[in-house]
Amino acid sequence: MFEKIKIDEKEYVRITRDELFRIVKEIFVALGITENEASIVADSLIYADLRGIESHGVQRLKMYVDGIKAGGINTEPNIITVRESPVYALLDGDQAMGQIAGYRATKMAINKARENGIAVVGVKNSNHYGTAGYYALKMAEEDLIGISMTTSSPLVSHTGAMERFIGTNPIAMGVPVEGEKPFLLDMATSVVPSGKIEMAQRKKERVPEGWAISTVNGKMITDPNEILSPKGAILPLGGLGEIFGGHKGYGLGVMVDILSGILVGATWSKHVAGAKEKNSNVGHFFMAINPAAFGDIEEFKNNVKKMREELRNSRKHPKFERIWTHGEKGFLTEETRLKIGIPIHRTVYEEINQIANELGVKSLS
Ligand code: NDP
Repeated sequence: MFEKIKIDEKEYVRITRDELFRIVKEIFVALGITENEASIVADSLIYADLRGIESHGVQRLKMYVDGIKAGGINTEPNIITVRESPVYALLDGDQAMGQIAGYRATKMAINKARENGIAVVGVKNSNHYGTAGYYALKMAEEDLIGISMTTSSPLVSHTGAMERFIGTNPIAMGVPVEGEKPFLLDMATSVVPSGKIEMAQRKKERVPEGWAISTVNGKMITDPNEILSPKGAILPLGGLGEIFGGHKGYGLGVMVDILSGILVGATWSKHVAGAKEKNSNVGHFFMAINPAAFGDIEEFKNNVKKMREELRNSRKHPKFERIWTHGEKGFLTEETRLKIGIPIHRTVYEEINQIANELGVKSLS
């Protein structure tokens, strides 16, 4: 049984998917979100934990709960379509949870691309939407190529700078594959997302050198507390300077800010505020492409399968046991966790129960 990350069972508690879903959904319902919408948010967070993306699973529950309590997230949003054509739409999220606005936009993109071959749906006035892959996968499961991006609050110091400026701005692309789970690339445009540093903070571990710098003197720093304070900044994908392509990660981060921020009328980079702030104005970008509009869909899916096989079967480096393609580790981890439970770090387990107790929701059993 495969799991993407190595679990120290002493540090973790395994919870079934259904029990975790129950408590997360009940917490959001207790906070005033409708049953249907609370199910979407719970599904999106647990999707991350099932796939081994613990940075963006229920360890982020407190961030959303605090955002709702502070009034930064609107639990009764009136999400409206501001502009629309057969191939595009722009939604105003009315400060909804990003997952709720994101889910609605994804469904719209799917319907439009099915009808018209291609669709772009943008969202402004939203909030943190979790993993970008959740939405890209939904599109891929409908036999569409799905692309999803979002702005996020400033944590990344771009090439040559020494301040938190861009977000960790993720990009995801899901692609249907004949007879297999979709190809699913889902990544921060920084070396790591901040959630991985938050997990190191919970585990009281240092992070590898190369992830972050001090905003005071520009030196590499490895203490998660310092990195997550205003004295630290994460580096763009490719790291410090240009030697390993930091300027390209920087460029990808800017691309996400332009498409999911400026284009859709949301804000960008250093202007994006956190979940507790009113009008954080996070923006999202969703694009669905119907391969059937460009040719034979079966041929497309078969060729992606062929390409994937060629990638897996290429000559292997002696240091690696296996060549992976994007999404595979996540799907295998999900398979394992549906059988033996989702590992939740003890600090997260306690935090969830504390939130539940405060809201009169039954603790995790
Ligand atoms: P990872 O570095 O864990 O993984 C990036 C991608 O690489 C995944 O598609 C993963 O697929 C794949 N992968 C992993 N190992 C290999 C390999 N050896 N060969 C080929 N592919 C591989 O992702 P990040 O830490 O950068 O991002 C984690 C999450 O954080 C994402 O879900 C992202 O959307 C989210 N995020 C959200 C933000 C927000 O503001 N909402 C901001 C930044 C990030 P697999 O699933 O199989 O492991």
